[in-house]
Amino acid sequence: MRDPEEELSQLQSSGLLRHLRRIESPQGIRVKLSGVGECLNFSSNDYLGLSTDDSLKSLYQKHIGHYGVGSGASRLVCGTMAVHLELEEKLAALKHTGAALTFTSGFATATGVLPALCGKDDFLILDKLCHASLIDGARLSEATLRVFPHNDLDRLQSHLEWASERVGAGGRILVVTESVFSMDGDLAPLDEICDLKERYRALLLVDEAHAFGVLGPGGRGLGAEPGVEGRIDLQMGTFSKAVGLSGGYLCASRSIVDLLINRARSFIYTTAPPPALAATLRDALDLVCGPRGDALRDDLRRNRETFSADSTSAIHPVIIGDNEAALAASARLLTLGFLVPAIRFPTVPKGSARLRVTLSAAHHFEEILSLKSALAQLASTR
Ligand SMILES: *Cc1c(COP(=O)(O)O)cnc(C)c1O
Repeated sequence: MRDPEEELSQLQSSGLLRHLRRIESPQGIRVKLSGVGECLNFSSNDYLGLSTDDSLKSLYQKHIGHYGVGSGASRLVCGTMAVHLELEEKLAALKHTGAALTFTSGFATATGVLPALCGKDDFLILDKLCHASLIDGARLSEATLRVFPHNDLDRLQSHLEWASERVGAGGRILVVTESVFSMDGDLAPLDEICDLKERYRALLLVDEAHAFGVLGPGGRGLGAEPGVEGRIDLQMGTFSKAVGLSGGYLCASRSIVDLLINRARSFIYTTAPPPALAATLRDALDLVCGPRGDALRDDLRRNRETFSADSTSAIHPVIIGDNEAALAASARLLTLGFLVPAIRFPTVPKGSARLRVTLSAAHHFEEILSLKSALAQLASTR
């Protein structure tokens, strides 16, 4: 039988062993790291700084006072409370879709939605850099899978052509991509992807995990941009990043959402999110997609421009290549007081280990400048 110790030492020798970092303070721009002390956090997805926002904290406390702390059952048993439906109605209204469904996480959304919509008669076509949750959802589906090189429209088209020649009358072709890619921070050409999926009568799912609350009109994601709005069949995302709380969502037509309620196993066979969380999310959407959100997005945009003239999102990779070198760079930054994670295989392709800098609306101008000079110093000594 395989010895787990041996597997761990193999991970260690290839520079791929991972450890949990222990944070002693609440989340924020400054966190207290166990054994290190206070450092500046450039690794969180809390893009608007809302995870510790005073107004959301007091709303959450108020809702806990009313609803308590748990939900008691799954959504289909007796766990669906008015607030879950209010949250979903608000989200559908914001996204201009017929309906919306919420899940316990973005991961659960992806692994529930793809197998619920696609089976062995169907075709799933994914961007090569899609998030692990989408890949796992695709694998669970038993559909025929095709992967196109990142943002490669010619290859997407040839896969669509290939699938459309094979799909039966009752079959389905679903294209899956992200609007902002999680490890590169670049954007998908959604307009052209919509043109292609329409030409081949395929459906399109776009994961907006890193865009919702950050980009697009009113922070509603890149699926809300003119030219694309109304054309994306399934808009997926998470409340765990810019919205500052947790949970996942899927916005689509009423019939797709009703089908998911009947078939998505990660929705059906899990306890409903606590109602106090759903109520806080409902309130948080007003904040994120309203004037306060706009002001925070302005702060974030200024910070992005300070960091890089060609910033496209809040995510800025610094590609290093080698695993050990990326780890060493991250460790060096930590000694200078900056928490910037090294990202390695299998999160990113082999040979493209990197530092992943994420910016928040809550960073200060000087903090970003000091990180930039530390990175420049690092590059010159490497
Ligand atoms: C973070 C992320 C998810 C998962 O969302 P959680 O709510 O954290 O489970 C899904 N897709 C992408 C692209 C992500 O970056």
